[in-house]
Amino acid sequence: MTSDVAEGRSLGINPEELASCVSCGLCLPHCPTFRVTGEEWASPRGRINAMRLVQDQGAAVDQAFLSSMDSCVQCRGCEPACPSGVSFGSMMEATQAALIRQRRVDWRRRGFRVLGHRRLLNLLSRVLAVAQRLRLVPSKRLGLPGIPLVQERLRASGDDVWLFTGCVMDAWQRSTHASVKRVVETTGVGVALPGADAACCGALSLHAGLEDHARALAARTMGALAGSAPILVDSAGCGAVLKDYGKLIGTAEAEAFSQRVMDVHEWLVTRLHMLPSLGEQNQEAIIAVHDPCHLRHVQRAHQPVVEVLARYATVVALDDDGLCCGAGGAYAAMQPELAASIRERKLEAIRRSGAGIVASANPGCTIHLANAGMTVRHPLEILDEILEEILDEASEDVR
Ligand code: SF4
Ligand code: SF4
Repeated sequence: MTSDVAEGRSLGINPEELASCVSCGLCLPHCPTFRVTGEEWASPRGRINAMRLVQDQGAAVDQAFLSSMDSCVQCRGCEPACPSGVSFGSMMEATQAALIRQRRVDWRRRGFRVLGHRRLLNLLSRVLAVAQRLRLVPSKRLGLPGIPLVQERLRASGDDVWLFTGCVMDAWQRSTHASVKRVVETTGVGVALPGADAACCGALSLHAGLEDHARALAARTMGALAGSAPILVDSAGCGAVLKDYGKLIGTAEAEAFSQRVMDVHEWLVTRLHMLPSLGEQNQEAIIAVHDPCHLRHVQRAHQPVVEVLARYATVVALDDDGLCCGAGGAYAAMQPELAASIRERKLEAIRRSGAGIVASANPGCTIHLANAGMTVRHPLEILDEILEEILDEASEDVR
């Protein structure tokens, strides 16, 4: 590298944010990469010190620096643990943005552009689905789920709330959206679905440092979800970024948009009385809840998932203090060995819980854990099945 960044002139991090870390190390036990490596360079404190060396002291961006930054899952588990309120996520996003400007040939630059084009993404997904069936793709090694050849068509049922459908989740896991939509409709509201302009929220681009691309996707998404209806999101990673558009775009309109965004469980938990109750004849499932980092650490809205499920099932908590599972958007594909080591700790916590099924409100987590042989479902997929059973039995009783 022969640029400003390579010569260590600036990463573009807010100097006050960079100075706010007091190197106490209280975040270290909450960092999944530190937990599996035990190495300072793989800890939040080590990463912040490396950023300081480059930005404040002009150190060169070398391979050690790149490894330290690229190995971060961007789970932000370090933020709630930090007594000084260090905004690690925004510093890492600034660093990734500075680095990607230098990586002229970076597949992420091109690859993430596909996410904003729904038709192209659906076409490529179908090609991938065929290739999977012909065993031409090492799906497990790449961290891919089984991609359906045919997707069910979702139809709007009203305009009381929007359901954000996004990119990869819509192309690979649309059946989850269908379940979420049915559960939301059971409360008596009509669900609007956005057009192709809301094809991607920009989360993956933002985490990869493609800030301009993320902003362009955000502007399109805002235009496609017009009006004042609440915007319900069933993917924790998307919800975290949609709630942060005010900061990303920096306008009053973007801030007002973000205020309308809710994780679907946050919305549903205040309407549980509108759903049918569990009958005596219904089996109580035993479910372990895995909190996605972007729901627990970023949105800080993980409790409603437990409250929603607890009305219909026995929910067991994991004893790992919300440690990341290692999915991290594209992280599992980019850093497969670290992602697998991090996941192993999560699998041990799930096994200790004794639950046979895991609920997780983020597509990346469900894919990553399912690839290790776990039965993982979106919480509202589980609830959709329970509600169907309750309603079927009620209609049989009437007959
Ligand atoms: S990020 Fe916060 S918790 Fe971690 S070392 Fe710095 S001040 Fe301490
Ligand atoms: S974001 Fe996650 S992986 Fe990165 S330093 Fe913080 S806790 Fe560690």
